Amino acid sequence: MTDATPLVLESVKLTYPDGGHRLTALDEVSLTVAAGELVAVAGPSGSGKSSLLAVAATLLRPDSGRVVVGGRDTGPLGERERTRLRRERIGIVFQQANLLASLTAVEQLLAVEHLRGGSVREGRRRAEELLESVGLGAAQRRRRPHELSGGERQRVNIARALYGGPSVLLVDEPTSALDRERGERVMELLGSVTRRHGTATVLVTHDRELLGRADRVLTMTDGRLARSAA
Ligand code: ADP
Ligand code: MG
Repeated sequence: MTDATPLVLESVKLTYPDGGHRLTALDEVSLTVAAGELVAVAGPSGSGKSSLLAVAATLLRPDSGRVVVGGRDTGPLGERERTRLRRERIGIVFQQANLLASLTAVEQLLAVEHLRGGSVREGRRRAEELLESVGLGAAQRRRRPHELSGGERQRVNIARALYGGPSVLLVDEPTSALDRERGERVMELLGSVTRRHGTATVLVTHDRELLGRADRVLTMTDGRLARSAA
């Protein structure tokens, strides 16, 4: 179980209600991501990238197909079990950092510890270490979101997603709010985080220029996933 492939999607189909019809957001999508592998999915806006991550995160149930996390088919699981699986196995980084305005960087991570019911002292040590590992110095770790730059906030966001020790890391357009140089540094960070933490990382972006760090690049077009031409 522990060395099962972290993330497997098999022939996943997802539709949304659309007037009297259904809009197909994911059309028979299959994807396997190994531990320590960074897979990038590029595609235009509306092609289904965020839907792919929502299904992989078990936030949305596909109409058909399977989502297997750490060897476990998530289809038969109830909501409570899915929530637990998500908390234990999956880290999610959204486009907007969604940090709590009143909390310092360290406290953003401790809020996760609180949800997990763990020890605050142990949690604080771990939070400091993780924030340091994503490049935030001691002073920055004491700052609230409005006192941090966009790139620094995204680093906090990434550290927070890693806090629970996930085997799967899902990242949605992490650089869209950043300038090119900061965007590249965040991509570099995601590459090194993937190797260091051994996560199966899926990163989606509409920005093709940021894909150099990926082990594999796939393209999403109208809900279909294909290997990118080199
Ligand atoms: P991307 O992230 O690549 O921009 P999305 O996965 O957000 O693409 O969207 C894929 C398609 O599904 C788009 O046509 C979008 O309008 C549609 N869509 C996304 N979310 C919903 C929803 N909650 N209800 C209905 N349609 C949606
Ligand atoms: Mg999107």
